[in-house]
Amino acid sequence: MLKLYNTLSRKKEVFKPLKDKRVGLYTCGPTVYWYAHIGNLRTYIFEDILKRVLEYNGYKVKHVMNITDVGHLASDADTGEDKIEKGAKREKKTVWEIARFYTKAFKRDIKQLNIKPPDIWVKATDTIKDQINLIKILEKKGFTYVIEDGVYFDTSKLKSYGRLWGKKKKKLKAGARVEMVPGKRNSTDFALWKFSPKGVKRQMEWKSPWGIGFPGWHTECVVMGVKNLGIPFDIHCGGIDHIEIHHTNEIAQAEAAYGKLLARYWLHGEFLVLKKGKMAKSKGNIITLKDLIQRGFDPLAYRYFCLNAHYRSKLFFSWEALRGAQNSLENLYEKIREIRENYSSNSISRNLSSVRTYSKKFLNLINDDLNIPQALALMWKLIKDKKVPSSEKYKLLLDFDKIFGLNIEKIKKLKIPKKIKELVEEREKYRKEHYFKKADEIRKKIEALGYRVEDTEEGPRINLLKS
Ligand code: AMP
Ligand code: ZN
Repeated sequence: MLKLYNTLSRKKEVFKPLKDKRVGLYTCGPTVYWYAHIGNLRTYIFEDILKRVLEYNGYKVKHVMNITDVGHLASDADTGEDKIEKGAKREKKTVWEIARFYTKAFKRDIKQLNIKPPDIWVKATDTIKDQINLIKILEKKGFTYVIEDGVYFDTSKLKSYGRLWGKKKKKLKAGARVEMVPGKRNSTDFALWKFSPKGVKRQMEWKSPWGIGFPGWHTECVVMGVKNLGIPFDIHCGGIDHIEIHHTNEIAQAEAAYGKLLARYWLHGEFLVLKKGKMAKSKGNIITLKDLIQRGFDPLAYRYFCLNAHYRSKLFFSWEALRGAQNSLENLYEKIREIRENYSSNSISRNLSSVRTYSKKFLNLINDDLNIPQALALMWKLIKDKKVPSSEKYKLLLDFDKIFGLNIEKIKKLKIPKKIKELVEEREKYRKEHYFKKADEIRKKIEALGYRVEDTEEGPRINLLKS
């Protein structure tokens, strides 16, 4: 039984898909005007875990992710510059070049983090016609009004507006967006279509029944979701910042146009934060995956770092904490190498009941609203458990890694250079003859070359020296 926390009901609910073993999943994708920062990437890791858990439970997932290449304005109050245009000015490139470049960078990032790509990528600029059609439906049903700046959705016309807010509703309505576009009727109203500024030719603009312009960001996601997954679909995800505005406005449009709830389960990932607060491109304090790699981190160490916190808890980033995650990951790889080395020697003794217990516990944890931190703890318990034979251990670890995605299967056997092997042999000789001082000198030499030697019951074991 898979349980997921649904922001709509503010409860953990038993997940039941619309069609027996199929799941339609929509995750809000990147706005491609700059590199994704590691906060954004935390959200994509959480969504990847969700997808893997669904698959682990036997569901066939159809995953759609959009690429926002137009219409996402610098401010959520429908004011400010289009982020893609801003990027184009900054880099003296066309908007199309910017979108292409950062889409590619994003795809590279998620690959490095071992995030499974969606089944369908959709670009906002490829669905303009459908977006105009949605606005036409909304207009026909009386939910829109036109002002100088564009076509707006009148939130006062929809009784259920704000259903994703829960108890915060009243407070939000009163004090929500202070910045107001002149002519906007309610502070919560939002742009469906923005007109190109008078006398200005935007690089991205389209004709519409209301005038030349471009779509609003919240309209894009409804269209791309419904077009590929139907309505309602099963799960819609994003970061918690999307609850108040973006997802609220997606739900409102779908309900007004089609009289249906857009998606049945709404899952939101908490933020990654810096000690000094929010990481934001506008604040100029962003850290990218490239920054991590340049400092010598393995991208999967960042993935491991994220797995250590539940997706609904804030995660504080620091370089020291990331270093800790990298050490743990290296340690894990080392342990797995050892387990693999012992693989054939003791694969005869089977202890199936303990294997079943671990499997069951693991499933219960991941199915309890993705309790990945505890599932990781269970993995470490298994590694240390002397009662489980190495062969069974290894199989279980591979199975767990279907969720963790730490590439356990791909861990390479360490290639020890000949020189190191010779030094280790020499040290062994001295040790056996009780020349411990000499043996110690050689150990230091080995370490200076980046390796470490550990004396075990089966003889010396060589490993990479950890940073
Ligand atoms: P954007 O490219 O700005 O549309 O954001 C992409 C995704 O990252 C969205 O799902 C956001 O909710 C999410 N997000 C933005 N900032 C953070 C953060 N600091 N931590 C976690 N997720 C974030
Ligand atoms: Zn979206």
